[in-house]
Amino acid sequence: MTTPITSGQRPRTCRACGRKFDYPVKGSAATRHHCEDCVAVPAETRKTLERLNTRVTQLENQLRRLQDKPAPPTA
Ligand SMILES: [Zn+2]
Repeated sequence: MTTPITSGQRPRTCRACGRKFDYPVKGSAATRHHCEDCVAVPAETRKTLERLNTRVTQLENQLRRLQDKPAPPTA
C-alpha cells in the first residue's frame, strides 16, 4: 500500500521521536530525518533518542505480530 505523492512534500517520520512531519516546510528547521523539535536537541542526546525510538519501533512491530496471530488455545 503506497500513498501517491501529490506534491514535493511527503510525510516524514522523525528518527528521534517517531513523529510524522512534513518536509520540506518553509520556515521550519526540520531536516529530512528529524522534526523541528528534535533538530533543537543536541546531537549526542538525539543519538540516544534515536536508539530508544528504534527499540520502541521494534517492540511495536513485535506487538503487532503477536496481536495478528490467532490466540493459541489455552484450555
Ligand atoms: Zn522528532
